[in-house]
Amino acid sequence: MTVTYPTRYPGAVWRPLDRHFTAGGIVVPTRGLIPHVAEGNGSLFGWFSNSASQVSAHLWVSKAGVVEQYVSLTDRAWAQAAGNRFWVSVECEGYVAEDYTPAQVQRLAEIYRWGMDVFAWPAQITDDPNGYGLGTHRMGGSAWGGHSCPGDLRAGRRRDILAAALGQPATPPPSELEDDMDEPTLRKVLNEGTAQGQESWAGTSRETLRATQATFNQAKTAADGIGALGRQLQQILAQQPVGEPLTVDRMLAAIDAATDPVALVAFVEASGARLRQLYAGRTS
Ligand SMILES: [Zn+2]
Repeated sequence: MTVTYPTRYPGAVWRPLDRHFTAGGIVVPTRGLIPHVAEGNGSLFGWFSNSASQVSAHLWVSKAGVVEQYVSLTDRAWAQAAGNRFWVSVECEGYVAEDYTPAQVQRLAEIYRWGMDVFAWPAQITDDPNGYGLGTHRMGGSAWGGHSCPGDLRAGRRRDILAAALGQPATPPPSELEDDMDEPTLRKVLNEGTAQGQESWAGTSRETLRATQATFNQAKTAADGIGALGRQLQQILAQQPVGEPLTVDRMLAAIDAATDPVALVAFVEASGARLRQLYAGRTS
């Protein structure tokens, strides 16, 4: 029997990269989690999407406790060289001399607890690149790029993260969009998800920008379901007898047979409401 491992961390906002990962290139189940120090503030989606960076990580945790996911957990992220084949990587906002915020410790604990349940990561910290558990980038030495990441302070926090992980429920809470994202950042994030020449957010209210960003994330999530629905409808059309009308019942049956009708309905309802909001904002 083949075991299927999850591709998404359910507590993260899904912001997939279109580069800087190796599809299917990770050995599952993974050996554990490697928290990195970002040496910077703000989402890494833009930097990881930039062809100058040539790096990525599966996850990112902000000081406020927002979790973003950039690479599928069954693909290889480019975070720690020879360690990329075996470990899930998580970048953590802030600097090497800065301690984690309590929200970051909490989020890392939730991620680790979830990994214990779905990947059978052991309840231990490890300093062995051939071992299992909650590790560090620096434990891999030169084979992992010869970094000191994440520094003594954050490496020393692993006992606290593990202790918190053992007290967590198995299912992480869904991540919320960052509330303190300033308006220029919000516009930049939206433009990253918008085709060239369509950067038309000038004059749009902050609330509408945020609603649009939320819709954009939902649309990404619903895309898989819509793809499955399209394939179902194609099959129905191929079987449709000539001269017979295509009925609503048959269409609804196709929706029902698609992978996730609940997500599709939620997406259609939410996007309808947000589109009305967007147009109201533009015409008033
Ligand atoms: Zn690192």
